[in-house]
Amino acid sequence: MRIVIAGSAGFIGCHLAKRFLADGHEVIGVDNLVTGQQANIDWLGEHRAFRFVRHDVIEPLQIEGPVDLVCDLACPASPVDFALLGVEILRVCSEGVRHLLDLAESKGAVFLHTSTSEVYGDAEVHPQDESYWGHVNPIGPRAVYDEGKRFAEALITTYQRRRGLPIRLARIFNTYGPRMRLDDGRVVTNFICQALTGRPLSVYGRGQQTRSFCYIDDQVEGLVRLAQSQYSGPVNIGNPEEITIRQLAQEIIELAGSSSVIVEHPMPPDDPKVRCPDITLARRELNWQPRISRQVGLQRTIDFCKQLDPQVLQQAAQGRLFGSTAARNAKPATDVKVRR
Ligand code: UDP
Repeated sequence: MRIVIAGSAGFIGCHLAKRFLADGHEVIGVDNLVTGQQANIDWLGEHRAFRFVRHDVIEPLQIEGPVDLVCDLACPASPVDFALLGVEILRVCSEGVRHLLDLAESKGAVFLHTSTSEVYGDAEVHPQDESYWGHVNPIGPRAVYDEGKRFAEALITTYQRRRGLPIRLARIFNTYGPRMRLDDGRVVTNFICQALTGRPLSVYGRGQQTRSFCYIDDQVEGLVRLAQSQYSGPVNIGNPEEITIRQLAQEIIELAGSSSVIVEHPMPPDDPKVRCPDITLARRELNWQPRISRQVGLQRTIDFCKQLDPQVLQQAAQGRLFGSTAARNAKPATDVKVRR
């Protein structure tokens, strides 16, 4: 296949690209590097079947030649980004998704969209299955992402209904592994950097909120199976093993062989209290379920972080990198051109 991946410099995007390349496909990676990393593109550049196009998908995208599959992973996705890149997020979830849909339609390609567990918001049902409509604050600090992704789902299902575009719709739950950004304030990388440098682990609130963490290789396998399936409704892709954030902190301290302690910090607003995917549908339709235990996945992620520049780890552990990529690339809101 000839595959376009928007967001190929991002964490999940680059792993998905790597997998498709390893399976013998040709991949055209597209990214504006607003939060994606050049190092991920360099990693993919080892393959001759990979080509990179630096492009912001809020502008129309033209690709020469045939395309069989368009994968959309282009969106800043961490709470740190929500604060700094709000306008960019809303635009990529609306204008950006439309341009990628138009590309897929013009090429007769399948469109694989990565939505998110955030469409369920601060969920009132537990675990969350695909039939749940969600509980989202439309004006809170997470709204740019949550509502952006909800709009994107409405847009792509409309392209399917009205224009017959073949779509695949993944709802991704918390995913972790090597090549996550260290500056985006995510819990797994924060805790690992803190544990490796002997600093206190920053648990927000009492740490009783829950998440369910999926290792990147399992996530990619789920997305590949979804792309190959005929199923066009939303499908949760995540790991249903749920833990509290305090438990996660303790596991990381232990696996890293660290003597760090846990320190509580204020809870961010609108932070979902629980999150756990019901993956009955993915099991049935894709014959998929996660295989990699948290112990193995966390150990691999810790080992990856151990090889990074110790100075960068120190800075990340102290929170000095938080939002640095997003802040560097965010435009002042008044500077954003609105095309009429
Ligand atoms: N969290 C934490 N300490 C940190 C970073 C995050 O306790 O240093 C918490 C955060 O409040 C949330 C959970 O960990 O409840 C997961 O946060 P993350 O930003 O990784 O993902 P999301 O909130 O989008 O699930």
